Amino acid sequence: MTTFIDGKAVALRVRAQVAAEVATLSRKPGLATILVGDDPASAVYVAGKRKAVREAGMRDLHRYLPATVSQGQVAAVLDELAADPGCDGILLQLPLPAHLDPGALIDRIPAGKDVDGLTTHSAGLLARGENGLRPCTPSGVIELLASEGVKMRGAHAVVVGRSSLVGHPMAEMLLHHDATVSVAHKHTTDLAALTRTADILVVAAGVPHLIGAEHVKPGAAVIDVGIHRTPHGLTGDVRTTELRGIAAQVTPVPGGVGPMTIAMLMANTLRAARR
Ligand code: NAD
Repeated sequence: MTTFIDGKAVALRVRAQVAAEVATLSRKPGLATILVGDDPASAVYVAGKRKAVREAGMRDLHRYLPATVSQGQVAAVLDELAADPGCDGILLQLPLPAHLDPGALIDRIPAGKDVDGLTTHSAGLLARGENGLRPCTPSGVIELLASEGVKMRGAHAVVVGRSSLVGHPMAEMLLHHDATVSVAHKHTTDLAALTRTADILVVAAGVPHLIGAEHVKPGAAVIDVGIHRTPHGLTGDVRTTELRGIAAQVTPVPGGVGPMTIAMLMANTLRAARR
């Protein structure tokens, strides 16, 4: 029997918990989302985050900047929000227009307001296993595994992908949960041989339908982080239907990891406001 993990339900539960805790605070937490330019996918993502902020009873401190904005102008907005005591979290939506340097801008966000967990400071805290704000997508994967009762301690976890946004922090977080972790990437020679040894397989390669039955050990938990827009709707990196009867758990796309990313952003903003 293969369980299709209902990420939407878990995400709603997390968001309801956050909203209930926000309601007890004397001051409403504020999240600033910054959208630069007119990338349509980014506009959709930011709109979803702003809606979640309002539904959680938090303050929506959104800023829009035109695509022609200079590095210095974005930096000035970040510095202003960093100094604003009513702003608890800052999220700079990526990708930025090509003339801007994302790394330098992200690193202007103070670690205490880094609700996306992407600054060098936050990455260092994660690497050292110290308290800090963690990237939302891998946090969402951990939350899904925990909610399904998937045992991480001692399990062999294989992460496909090593980006600083997903794969790399994912591997570190699984290590902190006492999994034995392998990381595959585009230079891995025999991907299927490695993934077939995984008790937990997290796929964040950004390659549609990369992973199928030949990659999965019977009884494994398979988490599909990939998101691809097709004329027939959203699809992931995993050929999910092939895993029926093989994997113990699988996340669908849509409705798996995607909704968790926003839920964990809300949880991070609440944490940031509490600190
Ligand atoms: P990325 O392109 O930055 O990184 C992809 C990684 O996969 C790289 O490390 C690369 O080496 C590896 N890779 C590529 N092809 C491979 C192959 N054939 N075999 C093994 N490894 C391979 O992408 P990213 O930002 O990490 O995102 C990955 C996917 O997750 C994308 O589809 C993205 O849209 C999606 N994503 C989803 C969410 C969400 O909320 N669900 C959030 C972020 C990203």
